[in-house]
Amino acid sequence: MSVVEISGLTKTFTKGNVTALQGIDLQIEAGEFVSLIGPSGCGKSTLLRVIADLTPPTEGTVSVNGKPAPKARADHDYGMVFQDSVLFDWRTVAKNVALPLEMLGRDRARRKERVEEMLKLVELQGFGDHHPWQLSGGMQMRVAIARALAFEPSLLLMDEPFGALDEMTRERLNIELLEIWRRTQSTVVFVTHSISEAVFLSTRVVVMSPRPGRIAGIVDVDLPQPRTTSTREEPRFFELVTEVRELLRGVGADQHGSVLAEAAE
Ligand code: ADP
Ligand code: MG
Repeated sequence: MSVVEISGLTKTFTKGNVTALQGIDLQIEAGEFVSLIGPSGCGKSTLLRVIADLTPPTEGTVSVNGKPAPKARADHDYGMVFQDSVLFDWRTVAKNVALPLEMLGRDRARRKERVEEMLKLVELQGFGDHHPWQLSGGMQMRVAIARALAFEPSLLLMDEPFGALDEMTRERLNIELLEIWRRTQSTVVFVTHSISEAVFLSTRVVVMSPRPGRIAGIVDVDLPQPRTTSTREEPRFFELVTEVRELLRGVGADQHGSVLAEAAE
């Protein structure tokens, strides 16, 4: 059974009559790390939101863990992290991470235990009593990841989580995220517009074309695990980056050339 199974998905927003996604077929298996990449406005966030049942498909079907997306949502089958994932400044780090557990009605002792486990996972032990504003951007993002993983979702959906961070922090968090992915054995769907980030992180990169968003191609990333700082220096890394870049260019060779050049960094 696939973790995510999308078939014949089309999404049209009535507002503005925009077809954001058209004819999307995609299967994601347990334990995969799949990135969605494409130029701004190609429907990456919309695709993630449809998987998460935050917006309904216009046509086609989406199932998560073999269930319709709304059922998976009700069952808390996934956690989500966004670029602007909001931490509550008046709550401590521990209380931010505990929030979904409170909403699920977990008792205090179990919450405390789980929060400590999560803070350890993202290497923020000892920061539970701090407030978000006392932490760096990278640390805040790790709190958001800890919170998303607190109720052990099998699927983690991430929308440009590191987009606002500087390059060095981002590369460090990339390695930490892979470590978390390995330890939790979860499945990740990760939206980015950075080609190198997509290749570095993923087992597969799904390249999307501009509006209406379609899948232009899928690149299998056969770089060995675990990925390390030297992964980015391997010849195979550059080959894969080039493969993704060419797919992005190819689909936009007509009027979208300039937009795609931007996405190609
Ligand atoms: P991306 O994440 O790849 O930048 P989005 O999924 O955010 O792209 O958007 C895809 C297209 O759908 C864009 O043209 C955007 O303007 C449109 N769109 C996204 N959300 C809405 C909405 N809620 N209502 C109307 N149009 C939307
Ligand atoms: Mg987006």
